[in-house]
Amino acid sequence: MAKAPLLYYSTNLKSPVVSFKEALLKGLAPDGGLYMPERIPTLSTNELNDMARLEYAEVAFTIMRKFLTGEIDDTELSLMAKDAYNFEIPIEPVYDRKFILRLDQGPTASFKDFAARMMGRLMQYFLHKENRNMLILTATSGDTGSAIANAFYGLENIKVVVLFPEKEVTERQRKQMTTLGRNIQIIGIEGKFDDCQAMVKKAFSDPDLTMLNLSSANSINIGRLIPQSFYYVYTYLKLRQQENDKIIFSVPSGNFGNLMGGLLAFHMGIPVEKFVVSTNENDEVPVYLQTGLYHTIVPSKDCISSAMNVGHPSNLARIIALYGGVMNEKGIIVKEPDIRKLRNDLAGVSISDEFTKATIKSAYQQHGILLEPHGAVAWAGLHEYFKISPKSAHASQLSVSLETAHPAKFPAEILETLGIDPPLPESMKGLDEKNESWISMKNDYTAFKEYLSNSYNHKY
Ligand SMILES: *Cc1c(COP(=O)(O)O)cnc(C)c1O
Repeated sequence: MAKAPLLYYSTNLKSPVVSFKEALLKGLAPDGGLYMPERIPTLSTNELNDMARLEYAEVAFTIMRKFLTGEIDDTELSLMAKDAYNFEIPIEPVYDRKFILRLDQGPTASFKDFAARMMGRLMQYFLHKENRNMLILTATSGDTGSAIANAFYGLENIKVVVLFPEKEVTERQRKQMTTLGRNIQIIGIEGKFDDCQAMVKKAFSDPDLTMLNLSSANSINIGRLIPQSFYYVYTYLKLRQQENDKIIFSVPSGNFGNLMGGLLAFHMGIPVEKFVVSTNENDEVPVYLQTGLYHTIVPSKDCISSAMNVGHPSNLARIIALYGGVMNEKGIIVKEPDIRKLRNDLAGVSISDEFTKATIKSAYQQHGILLEPHGAVAWAGLHEYFKISPKSAHASQLSVSLETAHPAKFPAEILETLGIDPPLPESMKGLDEKNESWISMKNDYTAFKEYLSNSYNHKY
């Protein structure tokens, strides 16, 4: 019996539902909302038992195909998953049943590799099939640009242009983008991140550039969200001792895409005791969970866990939607979600920079584990939650704290707190010696537009 296709709706509820392919290639819905699946596919007890024996890429395939309902041939999808997930996913035991999940072994040593690599391959598949091309345009303050550039490197039918503020990224961050070449073009702008962002936004709404078929690949794309559910399912199945074993995940959160991936896994059927929503001093979501009142933080606070300096998380609208509410793109709650249920599933904890540094130190001294600032926020958040809910601290309670970047990406903080220089992961070795190539441009939209028209137009 053929299954009814799973369709995707906009969180603003004012656009028609679309197929996965359309949601993936569009990114944002025409009404400014974010795409969400009309229903969350479920994983039965039998399916979970079978999946417990699978490799990561096979778990990825099994879940992804449920969200696609026939839009991609199984053999092709399975190959895509194998190609995307060709690196280790270490689960590090710390004490009792408390673990660190290290999502830092991908090509750019950040958890963003998990989403970007699968999304790139999904996009290539659909574009290739229709003999279409796409130009991905993205602005970066460091990490997203390198994850996107590496994920799309060498793919057919897709070219990538990344804009970065020339003076505001670290040398290693820059080299992770500028040493690639081929279908990846990097442009350094004499300006700030906001200037890069503004130029990208302007290009998207510029009618003269529509023939370039621009797309953004940013974190609001549903194609980046679903792959972030795979590692929750995989980790749970690797660590559970019996079928109804419940798990706590502590998730270091900024734009809440990672947490949203966890919630998808939970609503698919993984028994989660609690998601600890660990933020830095940008605490708008922990405050919302406590008070029921949502206020964005403008401008966002500058914390050492820099990838989480977000004052209005773009994925919050999806979380609200999952719990029956509606939040518009301005962050206004148009319809209240079931806050009782939200509070039952999520616990918000905000961690100061001082506490983050103290945690890097104590985790190393007490347990010999090396954390960078984002992972330290999660580890601190987990233990703050244990104080609020002492029964959760029990030795038998399975708990996993997510580490989202490799400590070698933040050598300054680690050196300052621990006095050690973290060794480079395999993926970053040799980077310092590679040759770079990028274009330098003034903060001038006209010049940028001219460059795009001249360099990419004839190729389409
Ligand atoms: C992007 C990022 C985060 C935040 O993830 P969200 O999905 O935006 O909540 C946390 N840690 C690191 C290292 C990141 O790059």
